[in-house]
Amino acid sequence: MALAFSSTSAPRFLPMRLPKVCLALGGDTIGDTIEDMLAIAESMARDNPFIEFRLDYLKQPLAALSKIHRFLETHQYVTAIATCRRSDNGGKFKGSLASQLEVLTKARASGCQLVDLELQSALKSKPEAIARLRGRAGLILSFHDFRATHNLDQTLEKMLKIPADFYKVVSTATTLSDNVAMMKFLQAQSGKHALIGLCMGEQGIISRVLSVRAGSVFTFGAVSADLKTAPGQISARDLRSIYRIEQVDAATRIYGVAGDPIERSLSPVIMNTALRRENVNAVYLPLHAKSLKDLIHCVREIPLHGLSITMPYKQAILPHLDNTDAHTAKIGACNTVVRGQEGKLYGFNTDIAGVIRPLEQRLTIENAKVLVLGAGGAARAAVFGLKERGAEVWILNRTSVKAQKLARQAKARTIKRADLRKIAFDVIINATPVGMGNTRDCPLKDPEIQARVVFDMVYDPVETHLLQVARAKGIAVIPGVEMFVQQAARQFEIWTGKPAPANDMLRAVTIALQERAAALKQPKA
Ligand code: NAP
Repeated sequence: MALAFSSTSAPRFLPMRLPKVCLALGGDTIGDTIEDMLAIAESMARDNPFIEFRLDYLKQPLAALSKIHRFLETHQYVTAIATCRRSDNGGKFKGSLASQLEVLTKARASGCQLVDLELQSALKSKPEAIARLRGRAGLILSFHDFRATHNLDQTLEKMLKIPADFYKVVSTATTLSDNVAMMKFLQAQSGKHALIGLCMGEQGIISRVLSVRAGSVFTFGAVSADLKTAPGQISARDLRSIYRIEQVDAATRIYGVAGDPIERSLSPVIMNTALRRENVNAVYLPLHAKSLKDLIHCVREIPLHGLSITMPYKQAILPHLDNTDAHTAKIGACNTVVRGQEGKLYGFNTDIAGVIRPLEQRLTIENAKVLVLGAGGAARAAVFGLKERGAEVWILNRTSVKAQKLARQAKARTIKRADLRKIAFDVIINATPVGMGNTRDCPLKDPEIQARVVFDMVYDPVETHLLQVARAKGIAVIPGVEMFVQQAARQFEIWTGKPAPANDMLRAVTIALQERAAALKQPKA
C-alpha cells in the first residue's frame, strides 16, 4: 500500500486508503533510543504497514530522523505518522513549541507522510506555521482528554477552525457509557469530517474496536499486550486476529461478555474464534462493567445483539430481563442475554448444556449416580440439569444449609462427607473453585475419589490436582475447559442459529490457557 509522497507537497489522504490499525510505537518499556524503536518497526512492519512514531518518547527526536528516513526509504510500503506530543499536552516532549514544529516539519522531510499536532500547540502557533506544515504533510489535529469523556462536539467545533486532514478526538472512559457517547459522536460527525476517535482506559477497550464501526478512519494498536502507548490499548495482533478489525463495518453485529473483573476472561478468544470460523460478520468484546446500571445503559444504547454475563451479575441481571427460559428461572442465574429486534432482553442459562453435553459423550445420564460438590450457581445448573435427565443426585457443600436448600428445590439429596464411601458414584462433579489457580488444593481426599468419571468445572489450570489424582486411579476425567467450550457453544447457537465449531473453540481456549501458564513461568524482567 505505497502512498507516494514528495517532500515538497503533501498528498491529501483519502481516509479509505489507510489501514484500519495504526501500530503505536513508543512507550517507556520499549526503550528510549531510535534503535530500539526501529528494531520493533523492522520486525512488525510487514504485518503493520501503518506506524506511528512517538518521537516524544525518544531522548533526541531530531537526531533520530535520519534513521527513520533510512527505514522508510527501505520500507516504501509503510505509511508513517510522526508525533512529538508536548509534556504539557500529555506527551513526553519537553522542548518549546518552535522545537516541536521543527521536529514535525523535519519528520515530514524524512518520509513521514502524516504528522500529529495537538490542538493546544496548534492554537498557540501562527496560522501560517500550521499551513506550512500542512502544505508538506497530511495533518492530524489531535485532542486528548486524559480524565473524562465530555463535550466531544464542542471540542470538534473548536478544532474545525484549524484546517487539517484528520481530526483526532481521544477521551478517557470511566464508564461503559462513555463509549456510547464516543460512538454517537463518531456516527453523527464522521460523514462530514475525517475523524479518528476512541476512549482510553480499561473501560474504553470496546471503543478501540467499535469506533471503526462507528466511523473512525482507523484505530491504534499496541506492539504487544505489555507494550502500550496508551491505557486500554489492544495489541495490533489481537485487533486483527481476535477482533478481525479489518472486516468490522457498519453491518458488523456486536456481542460481548460483561462482568467485573473481565480482563482475564477467555470468552473473547473462544467466541471470536467461532465467529471467524463460521464466517459470521460479528465481533465479541470484553465489557468491563463496574456497575449494573452502567451495563444496562450500555446494553440499551449500543446495538448489542447478545451478551455473556459473568460474575458478579449472573443473578443481578434477572430483574432487567423481559423474559427468561425455564432453566434460568429455576437456577436463578442467567449467563446469556439475547436482544430481540424490538430491543427486549431475553435471558438463558447455558451452563446446563456445559455440564450435560460432555457427560452425554461419556455415559447415559438417566439413572446415573452423581455427586455434586458445591451449591453455588454452577452447582445449581448441574443439579437441575442432571435431575431433568433422570440422574440420581447427591449434593455436598461446605455450608450444609445451602446444600439442603438446593436439594429441596431440585428434589435431590444431600450427603455428609463421612458417608461418601458408602455410595459408588458414576460421576463426581466439582462445582467449587477449589483447585483454581496455581495450587495443588483438591476438594476430596484420594480414597474419597471413587467414580467412573470425574468432572472438574475448574478450567484454569486445565489439569487440576483433582483430575491428576483421578487419572492416576484410572478414572475417566472431564476437564473444565470442556464445560467452558460447551456453554459457549450453546450461546453461539442461540445467537446465530448455527452449530458451533466446538473443536476449534476448544483448541483456541487450550492454546490461550497454555500461553497463560507459560507466561506465568517466565521470570519477571
Ligand atoms: P459460587 O456461586 O460462588 O459458588 C461456589 C461454591 O463453592 C459454593 O457452594 C461454596 O460453598 C463452594 N466453595 C467455595 N470455596 C470453597 C472452599 N474453599 N472449600 C469448599 N467449598 C468452597 O461459584 P460458581 O459460579 O458456582 O462457580 C464455582 C466454580 O465453577 C468456579 O471455580 C467457577 O470458575 C467454575 N465454573 C466453571 C465454568 C466452566 O465453564 N468451566 C462455568 C461456571 C463455573 P459455600 O456455600 O460454603 O460458600
